[in-house]
Amino acid sequence: MTTLTDRRHTDTQALAPAQAGDLDIAATRAEFPILSRQVNGRRLVYLDNAATSQKPRAVIRGISRYYEQENANIHRGVHLLSVEATEAHDAARRTVQRFVNAARESEIVFVRGATEAINLVAQTFGRAQVAEGDEVLITAMEHHSNIVPWQMLCEEKRARLRVVPIDDQGELLLDEFEKLIGPRTRLVAVTHVSNALGTVNPVREIIAIAHGHGVPVLVDGAQAAPHFAVDVQDLNCDFYAFSGHKVYGPTGIGVLYGKYTFLDAMPPYQGGGDMISSVTFEKTTYKKPPSKFEAGTPDIAGAIGLGAALDYVTGLGIDRVAAHEHDLLEYATERVGAIPGVRLIGTAAQRAGVLSFIHKDVHPHDLGTILDGEGIAIRAGHHCAQPVMERFCIPATTRASFALYNTRDEIDALVEGIKKAQKVFGQ
Ligand code: PLP
Repeated sequence: MTTLTDRRHTDTQALAPAQAGDLDIAATRAEFPILSRQVNGRRLVYLDNAATSQKPRAVIRGISRYYEQENANIHRGVHLLSVEATEAHDAARRTVQRFVNAARESEIVFVRGATEAINLVAQTFGRAQVAEGDEVLITAMEHHSNIVPWQMLCEEKRARLRVVPIDDQGELLLDEFEKLIGPRTRLVAVTHVSNALGTVNPVREIIAIAHGHGVPVLVDGAQAAPHFAVDVQDLNCDFYAFSGHKVYGPTGIGVLYGKYTFLDAMPPYQGGGDMISSVTFEKTTYKKPPSKFEAGTPDIAGAIGLGAALDYVTGLGIDRVAAHEHDLLEYATERVGAIPGVRLIGTAAQRAGVLSFIHKDVHPHDLGTILDGEGIAIRAGHHCAQPVMERFCIPATTRASFALYNTRDEIDALVEGIKKAQKVFGQ
C-alpha cells in the first residue's frame, strides 16, 4: 500500500531551494515604492502578504498609463481609444493564459477575485449539476470562500457538503478522501495552499483520484499562484481560481480558469451587456466563453494591472521566487519555532508562504498590536478559516506570510518583536 509520504506532493517540486539567492532582493525591493515608507516611526516590515501583496511600479505604471492614455470602454467603440483599450485587455488575458499554461485564451474568465470565481462555478456548474442527495466534497482546511458558496448551493439543492479531514500537522488525509468520494459526488473543491496553515496539497494526485471517479475538481489557487508555478494542463484541474491582488496585481480583479468543455456547457452567471449574441423580449442567446461569463463593463484597468503583475513575476522567474520564499519560510520556521512559548500551527512537510503560530502568553491580537508598533505588519485572527481554528482547538493564530521582496532581516525583526511582546505579557 502506498503511504501518505510516498504519495506526497509531486506537484510542488518547484519549491526545492535549488535557486535560493538568485533574486537580487535589493533591486527587487526598490521596485515596490510602499516598502520604503515608515510605519509608526519604523521601517515597514510587511509580512501580511497572504492577505494582499504590495504592488511593483510596473503595475502602478500600467494602470496609470491606461487611465492617462487609453481609457475607453472595450468591445464597443469604433474609435482608436476603444480599440487600444480592447487590445490591452485582450493582451492581459493572454498573459494570464501563459501564466497558468491554459490551452486556450477562452478558458480564462476575468472575475473580481477567487471568491467570485468560486461563486461563479457554484452558481452555474453547481446549480446545473448538483441535485437533491448529491454531494460536494471539500476539505477541512478551506478558506470560507471555498466553503460558503458550496454550503449555499447544498442548502438550495438539498445536497450534502462533505469534508475531508486533516491531521495534526495540517495535512490532508488522502485515505479519508478516497473513502468520501463516491457515486453521489458531483464536485471536489480543494485549496492548493491553505491560507491558515501554509499546507501545499497534492492537488495533482487529488485530481487524478477524483477523475478516476468521473468527478471534476475545482482548485482554489489564491495562495498558490503567488508562490510557485501553476500549470493547469499539467494538474489537469477542471477549474482553477485565484485573485490578482495576492499576486502583486490590483484588487478587484481575479481569474477563473475553466476547461473549455465545462465553460461551454455551463449556463451564464450574470446577465447584461457584452455576454449576449442577440436579445429579443422572447429570447436571448449568449456568446461563447469567456464573454458568456463577463456581463457588463469589466475591470479593464484591473486586468491590465494584473497582466503587468504576472509579466513582472515571470520576468523575475517564478521558480526563483519560489526558491527565495522557500528559504524564508524555512528560516522563519526555525527562528520563530525556537522561541519559548511558541507553538507552530501547520507543520506539513510541504508548505508555502505562510507561518502560523500561537504564543502561550500573548494573544495573537496583542502580539499584532505590539508588532505594529515596531512597523511589522502581520495578521491575527481566524484568517477566514474558522473550521481550521476549530480543528486545532484555538480561537486564532498569528500569521506571518511572505512575498518575493521579504528578507531574512525582516524575519529577525519579527523574532525580536515577538520577544518584546513576550516580555510585556509573559508570566
Ligand atoms: N481562498 C484562499 C485560500 C484565500 O486565502 C483567499 C483570501 O485570503 C480567498 C480564497 C479569497 O480571496 P479574495 O478575497 O481575493 O476573493
